[in-house]
Amino acid sequence: MEKSYMMALDQGTTSSRCILFDRKGTVCSSAQKEFTQYYPKPGWVEHDPMEIWSSQISVMMEAMTKIGVTAREIAGIGITNQRETTIIWDRKTGAPVYPAIVWQCRRTSGMIDELKKHPAFEEMIRAKTGLIPDAYFSASKIAWILRNVGDARERAERGELCFGTVDSWLIWKLTGGKVHVTDYTNASRTMLFNIHTRRWDEELLALFDIPACLMPEVRPSSSLFGSTIAELTGFPIPIAGAAGDQQSALFGQCCFGKGEMKNTYGTGCFMLMHTGDEPCISKNGLVTTLAAGTDDHPGYALEGSVFVAGAAIQWLRDELEMIRNAPETEAICRSVKDTGGVYVVPAFTGLGAPVWNQDARGTIIGLTRGTTKAELIRATVESLAYQVSDVVRAMEQDSGVKVEALKVDGGASANNFILQFQADILGAEVLRPSCTETTALGAAYLAGLAVGYWKNTDELKENWRLERSFIGSMTAETRAQLLRGWKIAERCACYAAEQWNAEK
Ligand code: ADP
Repeated sequence: MEKSYMMALDQGTTSSRCILFDRKGTVCSSAQKEFTQYYPKPGWVEHDPMEIWSSQISVMMEAMTKIGVTAREIAGIGITNQRETTIIWDRKTGAPVYPAIVWQCRRTSGMIDELKKHPAFEEMIRAKTGLIPDAYFSASKIAWILRNVGDARERAERGELCFGTVDSWLIWKLTGGKVHVTDYTNASRTMLFNIHTRRWDEELLALFDIPACLMPEVRPSSSLFGSTIAELTGFPIPIAGAAGDQQSALFGQCCFGKGEMKNTYGTGCFMLMHTGDEPCISKNGLVTTLAAGTDDHPGYALEGSVFVAGAAIQWLRDELEMIRNAPETEAICRSVKDTGGVYVVPAFTGLGAPVWNQDARGTIIGLTRGTTKAELIRATVESLAYQVSDVVRAMEQDSGVKVEALKVDGGASANNFILQFQADILGAEVLRPSCTETTALGAAYLAGLAVGYWKNTDELKENWRLERSFIGSMTAETRAQLLRGWKIAERCACYAAEQWNAEK
């Protein structure tokens, strides 16, 4: 029977999705299921690994039955997942020893603060993993489970337990417990993986007191990991791709070479720039990570994020009740010629790269008696573009590459005003593809290359179709003036926090 489809499993933070793609990269069927978020204490976030699994299996079946496809028609499965989230389970029974500790969970921030008191450790972690030590990554989450859950430590040391990020967990379940693996991109977010030697790092495992036998085998993102067992899918399907969500989106956007970059405009923004075969160590607080690739030399990427992006639009809608829905901001922004000198810095949880001030708070400057609601809304919407521009400039400085084009995806990339303003403020072209399901597409591409569904990356590039491009039309003078205003606004957001702290 002809293998007509590639299946992508997109296991995100709030939902499990399944998409079937054809050779042109067109979405042929999709299904999605949300699952429960657990907040057992302030700052703690957990998922039930069994619910992640059951929701994923159910959307797989749903996507297939929707268009009457059987497993025999599926050439392979690619998995993309929420990164860093940590699961430990019993190698024999498959039972998780504890809920999944989600990347957002802050329970181990004290452990990381302790570690950061020794600058040598911070330096070592940075040099080996490319990451800035944080509770976000898997290392301290694994250490927490081994310290706090019953006899987990003894069982781990006897080799009875497996650790995995969500890709690992799903592959283990899909293969009926036969295969315990992960891919380079997911490994590079654990803070235990040396991105230069591409191995689990013994010194880091020792630092967090984690036995090496807990760790999965690490393979290229595009490789034959195993096959689904027939009891699940009726017919075995090769599992041939795996990558963390952001790296998968970079691949799905066909950013394969040095200097190519994408930005995802979601609740926050995630920007990745491919830096080729050489890791680029940031001087601006960006992290270095492994990119998804087809062989043992996956290439590197610089990563930067904006904490509050689409979330600022949600704030306009839910807290200020200034808008009914996010899409209407586009017309509102166009209804005024500019913001009338108003800047909104949505530093609700501090400011990230390149400012890095965790005490900074949301700030509005430039208000006059005549400031209108539309101007305030426009200033909030423009803040997405300013923050992205800050990160892009930091990446340019670190990599020495001038960004000519930015490929975009994510919910807020539907807003033409944002993308035009982004192109204006960056002085670069902003490119929106017709398929914005780039995260899932990346996983399908990785799997498809491994099973020969697609021959090479040139074929994938032919699939990348432009829906609309935005070309900067602002004069250099206006741009410089607006950016000066933005810098002042950012400084105010930091200054106010410093003054408050000094008063305390
Ligand atoms: P996530 O994957 O982070 O949940 P999505 O990629 O689904 O996010 O994007 C949702 C975010 O994008 C929301 O914060 C929403 O406010 C914002 N958003 C969605 N559509 C628009 C739009 N047309 N204009 C501006 N913001 C939008």
